[in-house]
Amino acid sequence: MNIIHTWNHMQYYDSNTVLYLNGQFIKSAETKTDLYGQSLHYGYAVFEGIRAYNTHNGTRIFKAKEHFDRLQRSAELMHIPFPYDKDDLIRQTYKLLKKNNLKDAYIRPLVYCGQNMSLSPSAASSIMICAWEWGAYLGNKLVRVGMSSYQRPNPKSTHVEAKASGHYVNSILATAEAKNNGYDEALLLDMHNNIAEAPGANIFIEKSGKLYTPPLGSILAGITRATVIKLCKTLDIECVEKNLTVEELKDADSAFFCGTAAEIIGIESVDDTVFPAVWTETLGATIQRTYKALVLEKQNYEVII
Ligand code: PMP
Repeated sequence: MNIIHTWNHMQYYDSNTVLYLNGQFIKSAETKTDLYGQSLHYGYAVFEGIRAYNTHNGTRIFKAKEHFDRLQRSAELMHIPFPYDKDDLIRQTYKLLKKNNLKDAYIRPLVYCGQNMSLSPSAASSIMICAWEWGAYLGNKLVRVGMSSYQRPNPKSTHVEAKASGHYVNSILATAEAKNNGYDEALLLDMHNNIAEAPGANIFIEKSGKLYTPPLGSILAGITRATVIKLCKTLDIECVEKNLTVEELKDADSAFFCGTAAEIIGIESVDDTVFPAVWTETLGATIQRTYKALVLEKQNYEVII
């Protein structure tokens, strides 16, 4: 039998924590889950992962609009009602951070459906937003990656561009396998055996002075991925969106993952292949520095956006 490495028994809330639920702030410890909920039984919910940073301009939610836009789009693709005012949700999220005294935080909105054991979409949804402290930037730690035996969900079996809860069963399976095999992180292929993405992050590779990243179609359209592509334009780095094989990946000079939670994180190796470039000298490291300055609003925002 496989030994599954479980992880993360962190405390997400305590008796003082509040969350936002359908227009109200309530104590997290006093909330209830409906055990007859459609979301719980079928993974039928959509969510977001957002970061707030303690900047010299105060606490700032990075790309708030983009994240709430994607939440709405995910809900629409999944036929989950989304009758919420996104500007208000952003205001409520700032309030949530304040009420919980959070400055560097991870923010998790979830749109879910209540009692309904049928496979027909629900007529109503709820929205909850919670947040917890998220420590400082990890910097130059590199990850060891294992190619997954799992593929990402087939785009003809679901809307892969939706950030839907059920899709993350695939992410948990891939992560369990990678950790069991002694890796830090998994990398999954798409249905055509091209490189797709990590369980919760997109990938870029560097070869001969250019960056490459898989095109949209079988991956989540990461907001960090879009930011990296924009940063490349500003920094005059050529960045090509194209299908990439495992051979191309293993022949790369360097590679990195990007995502809201991971930010920009360098990859040391894939399976037994160690990337030859010294991380600090890669385009990824330049992007990492620039991304950090951007989220912390340490440079002229207008130039970057
Ligand atoms: N792919 C998957 C499967 C993810 O869960 C995430 C995290 N949301 C990403 C990519 C990166 O997306 P973003 O940059 O918007 O966080």
